[in-house]
Amino acid sequence: MKILVAVKRVIDYNVQVRVKSDGSGVEKENVKMAMNPPDENAVEEALRIKESGKANEIIITSVGEEKSQETIRTALAMGADRGILIKTDKETEPLAVSKIIAKIAEEEKPDIILMGKQAIDDDCNQTPQMVSAILGWPQATFASKIEIENDYATITREIDEGLETIKVKKPFVASCDLRLNEPRYASLPNIMKAKKKPIETKLATELGIDIEPRIEQIKVEEPPARKKGIMVSDVSELVNKLKHEAKVI
Ligand code: AMP
Repeated sequence: MKILVAVKRVIDYNVQVRVKSDGSGVEKENVKMAMNPPDENAVEEALRIKESGKANEIIITSVGEEKSQETIRTALAMGADRGILIKTDKETEPLAVSKIIAKIAEEEKPDIILMGKQAIDDDCNQTPQMVSAILGWPQATFASKIEIENDYATITREIDEGLETIKVKKPFVASCDLRLNEPRYASLPNIMKAKKKPIETKLATELGIDIEPRIEQIKVEEPPARKKGIMVSDVSELVNKLKHEAKVI
């Protein structure tokens, strides 16, 4: 069984993101980049499935600039087998990325596609759903538990009402929640080994897919600064302020 995992290179979640002064986007120059956090859970889950003897190959793919190789390399150092970089210097929207991942799936014929539930940069939460729609495969989003038995997977989903359990038939697409597992760190020997693992690079323009943006970004701005709070000395002062100053009670 083959597993394809899609990983996105994003600004590291510890970085304080700064908006460019001309409002055309956010500053990415000299900013620490990393694998999108839920994509680490997707890689970890693929490794666990392989370690349980239910898969024999894990392929990592990323769509983005040349440096996305580093993100693929991180997944290879965690234990994945090989990588496919689809190179483009343009910003890609979820629809374009979905078409590219679906195209790779048609070529590689994986049994499972694992993705993150959401990218922390665009917060779209659209790509896994669109990949499944393009391929006509079942989807299991926000997975917090995946159990594979022969041709089926029983998947627990994190939903607003609680936990939902569904059964999907392979091949399927699952998007991974942060609660799915605890991603491992790559050990030094595995980082060294990963340097020799193959990464195939293709240009997005070679795939014969329309990846032109459908959305025009007008402006990016910082959220308004929050007003400083005040400390009250007791409940009666709080009630007094809520009544007479905030006028909310
Ligand atoms: P989004 O729909 O943008 O919130 O992204 C959801 C998931 O789709 C991510 O967690 C990744 O697994 C995958 N994904 C999105 N963009 C890319 C990309 N450029 N390259 C590879 N995977 C991606």
